[in-house]
Amino acid sequence: MAAGISKNIMVAVITLALALMTLGQSSQAGVLGDLAADLENDLLRVLPRASDQGVFRSTPLSQKVVAITIDDGPDPRFTPKVLDLLKRERIKATFFLVGKNVTQYPELAKREAREGHVLGNHTWDHPVLPQENEAEVLEQLEKCRSAIRNTTGQDTHLFRPPKGLWNGQVFDAAKRLGYKIILWSETLEHQSAVTPESMAKRVVSLVRPGDIMLCHDGRLDRTKSVAALPLVITQLKAEGYRFVTVPELLAMAELAKSQGHPR
Ligand SMILES: [Zn+2]
Repeated sequence: MAAGISKNIMVAVITLALALMTLGQSSQAGVLGDLAADLENDLLRVLPRASDQGVFRSTPLSQKVVAITIDDGPDPRFTPKVLDLLKRERIKATFFLVGKNVTQYPELAKREAREGHVLGNHTWDHPVLPQENEAEVLEQLEKCRSAIRNTTGQDTHLFRPPKGLWNGQVFDAAKRLGYKIILWSETLEHQSAVTPESMAKRVVSLVRPGDIMLCHDGRLDRTKSVAALPLVITQLKAEGYRFVTVPELLAMAELAKSQGHPR
């Protein structure tokens, strides 16, 4: 019963988000595209937060750990600044890469791998996957994985669908190729926060132990995100948080589960 309700909500989310993005293509693509993502983020909050058959939004850990995930790069406008920050703060993050960008900016992808970050699959060119047929979905996943592997030597089993939009076909394709689907519990970017300070304040107030935080270093203008990220890191560190990669977070959750006291 609960699964049926979740499925209905997910269908509603995708329908609404697609409608907004379709509108966005004919007018203010960026604004409406982000609005669709925000809408989806808000609706995701009513869904179960725990992992469900290989789909992760957060983990039920009590330790103060959070995984920073960074989508849509590499992008020479923003990625070097983010990498400099992470290096300075000695933080390892998880980058969900767009395969086409990896091919275009191989040095940046190599730097991410060299500096110890984890790379994940964010498709070849960031389509709305529920609008694609099965062969196209598989091609998006395979082309991105090849680009990452050929450029950096890193293989990946983490997948994040663009804008968090997926359906049964996307789920099955990802599962068949051995992926875990990694969504998020909080986003740095949100329509209600318009300055780096308000973005940081908002997301820090929402973060809970074991969460996965989404931010961006590509595609749109991410100047504000790049300015907000150091504030987020400083404030979360002050609250006693430590930063881990997605595989580390999942391993910690798995260990806690096997010891029988996830909380
Ligand atoms: Zn994306």
